Amino acid sequence: MDHFDDLIIGAGQSGPFLAQKLAAAGRRVALIERRWLGGTCVNDGCMPTKTMIASARAAWVARNAARWGVVIEGPVRVDWGVVQARKNAVVHESRGSLESWLGGTANLTLIHGAAEMIDERTVAVGERRIRAERIFLNTGARPVVPPIPGLAELPFLTSETVMDVPALPRHLAIVGGSYIGLEFAQMFRRFGSEVTVIERGPRLAPREDEDVSAEIRAILEEEGVSVRASTAVTRAAKEGDEIALDLGEAQICASHVLVAIGRAPASAGLHLDRAGVALDERGYVRVDDELRTTAPHIYALGDVNGRGAFTHTSYDDFQIVCANLLGSGGRRVSQRIPIYGLYIDPPLGRCGMTAAEARASGRRVLIGRRPMSRVGRAKERGETRGFMQILADADTHALLGATILGIEGDEAIHSIVDTMYAGAPYELLMRAVHAHPTVSELIPTVLEGLTPLT
Ligand SMILES: Cc1cc2nc3c(=O)[nH]c(=O)nc-3n(C[C@H](O)[C@H](O)[C@H](O)COP(=O)(O)OP(=O)(O)OC[C@H]3O[C@@H](n4cnc5c(N)ncnc54)[C@H](O)[C@@H]3O)c2cc1C
Repeated sequence: MDHFDDLIIGAGQSGPFLAQKLAAAGRRVALIERRWLGGTCVNDGCMPTKTMIASARAAWVARNAARWGVVIEGPVRVDWGVVQARKNAVVHESRGSLESWLGGTANLTLIHGAAEMIDERTVAVGERRIRAERIFLNTGARPVVPPIPGLAELPFLTSETVMDVPALPRHLAIVGGSYIGLEFAQMFRRFGSEVTVIERGPRLAPREDEDVSAEIRAILEEEGVSVRASTAVTRAAKEGDEIALDLGEAQICASHVLVAIGRAPASAGLHLDRAGVALDERGYVRVDDELRTTAPHIYALGDVNGRGAFTHTSYDDFQIVCANLLGSGGRRVSQRIPIYGLYIDPPLGRCGMTAAEARASGRRVLIGRRPMSRVGRAKERGETRGFMQILADADTHALLGATILGIEGDEAIHSIVDTMYAGAPYELLMRAVHAHPTVSELIPTVLEGLTPLT
């Protein structure tokens, strides 16, 4: 039996940083990872997708170069092998620097293997038994595979495999029209694949406001992505070299099928019940506002706790636990304001409430809106798709949320969220001077035009 002060299961976006801080504080720490350091973000998620999205944008700009007065003689060709090699280099560099950083940390032992709980303080990795005073779960989430008849017998793809296909798909069918599916849809379309998105609900990105969903759909359809909304896949079968998908009345044939219907917490197989850790009905680890599970010496951070599904929320979980255990304390998950991006091009930046949520909150809400076609920066770039929208409370003057779907939207959103964190009224941001010509410079103007949300 090995003994440690602290044991961390999973090296995602909180585990490694927490391990380093605890070890630096003099605790004897073990970090167990069954696959690769960096977890989803580094190996299968944010980093590889955004690297490939950059290649896809380069292909799109090259194909459309004439719009900006640039002539490219001859066809534009995507070298898939080079695109993949570039992605792999970025991933390997990031994983490698994490490995050398953690590998050189005193008091920290890295253990390779899949962990499971034996009892409240004992963990097994294969034959090895490890005991620790405190345990931190950072096991993340995995793609969900829908129970479509016939699918399990076929070589379908998930976000963990689609970027490594040996050749570009002729026709990529994507089951699921939410964030992950949409980023891959535009990316592969720009690489030259035919792409069909099949979404069971009536609109894409269903958690967003209806006008946002409609504009996202228009952006994708303009580039030739085919969208089939309100459509369920009822059966999948091999048809020659291709895969046939039954869509009720219709059928489509695709060379590749990507399943992107959502992610489920990686809690099964950990035997958390042996440690007194309760899960909710969807398998997420139940945590309190300081990320303690139902076993007070066990914490859960990142996607597995269901309190966020992003790299920045997982990293914030690390900061909350770290501040409360090693620092001055006082950090809570409920202090966090929702913020995220959807990295289609142009991107969606979102923070706080949607208009639907603000309406449902019962507040008197003000809304300001401006199409990107009236934003100088977007006009100069020749990319005027999208709009910006800001919500404020008519009584308290607090900012409630914002949507910037358009160029630089993922960056420009931050001045709004920072004002929300400061607890300042929207008038503060209205008086702020932003540099010209940026998307952010129009934020004060949008606030000047606030009108009641109907
Ligand atoms: C395609 C895609 C694109 C994404 N893009 C973005 C984006 O642009 N921005 C963003 O903020 N987020 C994005 N995400 C989400 C983001 O990757 C995750 O929210 C983030 O990685 C946080 O995860 P985590 O820290 O909870 O754990 P993870 O990063 O999922 O890591 C968990 C680790 O635990 C290990 N593990 C699991 N079980 C065990 C066990 N029993 N024993 C040992 N080890 C175990 C796993 O192998 C894994 O390495 C994307 C996700 C995907 C799939």
